[in-house]
Amino acid sequence: MATAIAKKPAKTKSGEMFYSPIFDELGLPSDPANLYRETVGTMLHAAEMMGLPHELQIILAQPKNEIMVHFPVKMDDGKYKLFKGYRVQHNNALGPYKGGLRFHHDTHLDDVKSLAFLMTMKCSLAQLPYGGGKGGIKVDPRKHSRAEMERIVRRFAAAIAHDIGPDYDIPAPDVGSTAQHMAWFADTYCTITEGSGKNGMAVVTGKPVEIGGSLGREKATGQGVIDVLEEMLPEIGLKNGLKNATFSVLGFGNVGSWSGRLAQDRGGKMLTVADHTGAIKNDKGIDAADLAAHVVKAGGVAGYKKADKVTLEQFYKTKVDVLIPAALEQMIGEEQAGWISCKVVAEGANAPTTPAGERILNANGIEVIPAILANSGGVTVSYFEWLQNKSAEAWDLEKVDTLLNKHMVRAAGVTRLARKKHNCNLRTAAYIAALERLKGAYEVRGIFP
Ligand code: NAD
Repeated sequence: MATAIAKKPAKTKSGEMFYSPIFDELGLPSDPANLYRETVGTMLHAAEMMGLPHELQIILAQPKNEIMVHFPVKMDDGKYKLFKGYRVQHNNALGPYKGGLRFHHDTHLDDVKSLAFLMTMKCSLAQLPYGGGKGGIKVDPRKHSRAEMERIVRRFAAAIAHDIGPDYDIPAPDVGSTAQHMAWFADTYCTITEGSGKNGMAVVTGKPVEIGGSLGREKATGQGVIDVLEEMLPEIGLKNGLKNATFSVLGFGNVGSWSGRLAQDRGGKMLTVADHTGAIKNDKGIDAADLAAHVVKAGGVAGYKKADKVTLEQFYKTKVDVLIPAALEQMIGEEQAGWISCKVVAEGANAPTTPAGERILNANGIEVIPAILANSGGVTVSYFEWLQNKSAEAWDLEKVDTLLNKHMVRAAGVTRLARKKHNCNLRTAAYIAALERLKGAYEVRGIFP
């Protein structure tokens, strides 16, 4: 690990970790803290290290299509409200666009672009036959009744129905969206495309099992995080993997709660958890399954009786072996990175660590397992769901779990090899491995015309 940390990029004059002339060539946002500039910058840093041709760097630094829609929906009180929806299709050189739908009141185009870009990298690293996409609606699902959410999801599906498809662009759940939302989305798409001969149900993954969802999809992202941790912890200094390891979780939704429950099943002890409602801590351990049940009822970790309420700063400062960020982007900046005391950060969330935060973590000897590796279990089981839909099969859970583990171990292995070859940190290595596969595809496909 020591060599990887020594190779950290130095800060440039603009205060960011890496500057590429491509930022200006493509007119990317000039703010060094802009999420899109940060995420693309990380890729361009890796691209430069491996000598990726300029034409591929500029192609990958922008999405192919950015779709924005506005649509009216009738609220329960009879009034209409206008919503904004997005679908960004970043790249499809390796296969159909693939990526989730975020339902969050603070969703912006740059966030969706960043997440779509990360999906291209993730699917490439995971050796899936997919490109990258992402979408969402600017909406707070907690503020709408079930009936309103159904109308919002269906109206959004109708608005983008002609821009997606089971062999073209396949959405899935992300923050704020659920299997039920995917069911309404798929049903709307099937209604609109009825008679077209398309297998409409395969247009989204993360569906309920009753309509072709895969067993194991709900826990897949958390399970992938745990599979990668078990694979990599011994070389990070935890010989027994998660057994007797302490850990903390930031965000206790789908990814966070499943990561917590599965880490606990492997013998780990969860000391502290934070989400949008607050932070809690218990040095004797917090039962992850019990907390997950509380969160379902209470809407967040606040009010959980078997742990003490703490500040966010105390959450970050709690000494643990493993920290699993599983909430939103940019939650580990310079300040939080300085507080963190752990051996490894396993990114369950997408882009939770800023480049400046990562520099501090690395300098403090903390390894970061990047999101494109750590959280690729979700899209991997989405791929299994899509395969099952296309072949009209239903796999048992054992098959899903076994194949998922194989994919995660392979992605970890490819990342490890790239790190050895380029003597860099794990994030740069994962990007290099992803870029190598994309480069190979472009070499044989060529660039039209
Ligand atoms: P979710 O909606 O189920 O949970 C989100 C969690 O984040 C909640 O616990 C919420 O309280 C917490 N949160 C929101 N704002 C917060 C704040 N300001 N401070 C602290 N916590 C906050 O979403 P999810 O599906 O678990 O996704 C979490 C992350 O994982 C996202 O980055 C998402 O893109 C990524 N991800 C999800 C999947 C998946 O399969 N669901 C797959 C890959 C990556």
